[in-house]
Amino acid sequence: MQSPASVGLFSFARAGFSHSVAPGGEGIVQRFGWDRKNDAFVFTMKGNIPVRVSWTFAIPAALPFLYEWSRHPRLALTHTVTFAALLFLSVFLHELAHVWAARRRGIGTERIDLYLFGGIAWFKRGVASPYGWAWIAFAGPLVNIILAAGFAASYYLLARPLSAVGPDGLFNSPPPRPDTLLEWTLWLGALVNAVLAILNLLPAYPLDGGAIARHLLATRFDAVTATRIVGFCGVVLSVLRFAVIVPAAMAGILLWIPPSFTPNWRAFRATGSKKPVPQHPA
Ligand SMILES: [Zn+2]
Repeated sequence: MQSPASVGLFSFARAGFSHSVAPGGEGIVQRFGWDRKNDAFVFTMKGNIPVRVSWTFAIPAALPFLYEWSRHPRLALTHTVTFAALLFLSVFLHELAHVWAARRRGIGTERIDLYLFGGIAWFKRGVASPYGWAWIAFAGPLVNIILAAGFAASYYLLARPLSAVGPDGLFNSPPPRPDTLLEWTLWLGALVNAVLAILNLLPAYPLDGGAIARHLLATRFDAVTATRIVGFCGVVLSVLRFAVIVPAAMAGILLWIPPSFTPNWRAFRATGSKKPVPQHPA
């Protein structure tokens, strides 16, 4: 059984895209170039792990700057390319951390997918303790926490001294309004990674936080109870997220954030006979 470890961006609907792999059924696996069958750019990492970057990964990268294209096309191009690079780096390193943590426990990776809602690392069959699986799931968000701290530190160390900041400016100054592209990039890098870390640590399906919570709870309760507790948290969070989505929509920002209602409701009701709740980090 493949075990997906995923990263959610604006949302995570693994169901829509989680075509399972048919082991050995794909014939010659493309190593580099454009994969027409999957409409994705493919490259192969060390350790013979294929990485598929779907064309849909460009959508969340381009969306935030659509409005800017009509007004300042050159600036919009710079912003879109920079944001796309940051997004790719942040999501890809997140997945690599899952891969690395799994490999340390002798669990190989089938492939990595990057697509509309983020990334998925598909693991090969493997065995780990509940704490082992929790650690594999936590490794992804941990990388985003480290990256966010690194970008934020660089921003304050490199970019802020360029502009005059008073001795107590840290507390009194308005939120940073980065002027140069370097400042903007560092600030955005911190923001993107902070958002990725927080969203992915929510205790809900199919996020890393849901997998962490379920594996840790399974050491105290039985597996079904652990699954249902996380499902309940996910149902509550799927409702609470509208406290962010609705005000954003009223401000003209279309936003979709995880967790979705359905997988969590299914886990809570424990009616997952058709689509079982993933047994490993999701
Ligand atoms: Zn993840």
